[in-house]
Amino acid sequence: MSTNKNYSFFGDVEKSFDKASKFTKWDSGILEQIKQCNAVYSIHFPVKIGENIEVLKAFRVQHSHHKAPCKGGIRYSTAVNLDEVMALAALMTYKCAIVNVPFGGAKGGICIDPKKYTAYELEKITRRYTAELIKKNFIGPGTDVPAPDYGTGEREMAWILDTYSSMRPGEIDAAGCVTGKPISQGGVRGRKEATGLGVFYGIREVCNMPDVMKKLELSTGIEDKRVIVQGLGNVGYHAAKFFREAKAKIICLAEYDGAIYNENGLNEEEVFQHKKNTGSVLNFPGAKNIATSAEALELDCDILIPAALENVIDGNNAPNIKAKIIGEAANGPLTPEADEIFIKKGILVIPDMYLNAGGVTVSYFEWLKNLSHVRYGRMEKRFTENVNTHIIAQIEELTAKKINTTEKNLIMHGAEEVDLVYSGLEETMIGATNEIMDCWKKNPEIPDMRTAAYVVAINKVGTSYEALGIFP
Ligand code: GLU
Repeated sequence: MSTNKNYSFFGDVEKSFDKASKFTKWDSGILEQIKQCNAVYSIHFPVKIGENIEVLKAFRVQHSHHKAPCKGGIRYSTAVNLDEVMALAALMTYKCAIVNVPFGGAKGGICIDPKKYTAYELEKITRRYTAELIKKNFIGPGTDVPAPDYGTGEREMAWILDTYSSMRPGEIDAAGCVTGKPISQGGVRGRKEATGLGVFYGIREVCNMPDVMKKLELSTGIEDKRVIVQGLGNVGYHAAKFFREAKAKIICLAEYDGAIYNENGLNEEEVFQHKKNTGSVLNFPGAKNIATSAEALELDCDILIPAALENVIDGNNAPNIKAKIIGEAANGPLTPEADEIFIKKGILVIPDMYLNAGGVTVSYFEWLKNLSHVRYGRMEKRFTENVNTHIIAQIEELTAKKINTTEKNLIMHGAEEVDLVYSGLEETMIGATNEIMDCWKKNPEIPDMRTAAYVVAINKVGTSYEALGIFP
């Protein structure tokens, strides 16, 4: 991991953007407009913690207004700074464009260590931050819609919604002011696992491409692939779960305090419970301890999934990486220097702003649900089941044969909310993979998949800006 004090995450995003923009037809003015952050809100606000007043630093950045609302998570971490929030907001613009989610990119963050505060204190902080966003119109179902990110989850999203609704009484679409909410507060089934599931669908799609696998000297498909996951948070945990269920082997799970290794495969749920009981993934029964997370990244494997924070693989450790595929589940885990090394080494990097777009895709479904005020499947589930029951009865009567109960239940089943969300996400990830790969194939000069993904994104945002014109 880089210890370089001059490191700029936004600078890295700009570098990747510039590298890709050469493969597009847009003039420099449009490119500059796409690249810059449109609005930056930087705030300090006081919160009473115990007997003391703490002044907290926070941000919300809206990178692009080519579509409305803006969309992106809110992060709680001591590493939060303006440069990081700007970079993450920019990635959200490109991410939404790639998966055809009609939002501009945004991101927010509060510079705190959430572990140092009680739930009551975190609620106060979250509510005050939301009030600050409301004051400047930096939140609302039609303007800017936050979601969970590193250090936040459903609980914080519920507090945001409640604060917003209290300050905007009677606003009929208020539930759409934030996504990633608990189901009871207008959340959608499948949102929690969405990013990890999207990571799985995306890598599976690439692994199902025989020509791509042949180049990497790997067999086609997911089964028996040796996978390392760095970060056992929500994204890493669910990515590991879906890979294990598809018969891949999770040979190593890495956390900030070290990693565990078992070549026969680890079960993420058992490891999670062990961590809950002991405070660490280390000393997991049957697994070997590895001293640092950084060492784990360099182990031999087929697929490496960094699912923690940005900037974990740079020009220093990239030469030691032995994976054949790197799936960026986190935002910005690789620096542009690492990218150059992997191009030379023939390692396939599946880029973040496409691969971890599952979260925002399902956020889009949640937002649509909130605006329509009805649960997915409510209107058609029973109707489908009634029609299917009738069809089965007709088939049995006409053939004089019985369909077995398992098959019958499968055919009859009308789609529930979670079925529709999963299928919408799968369709989205398959479509995006093919769009990026087609772009890359059409232009063999494009050096890597990240650049191809940027080209796809820049073209979509550019087309939007061109059609919009410049106001006034
Ligand atoms: N924080 C997630 C991301 O980086 C989700 C954003 C959203 O759902 O708006 O993609």
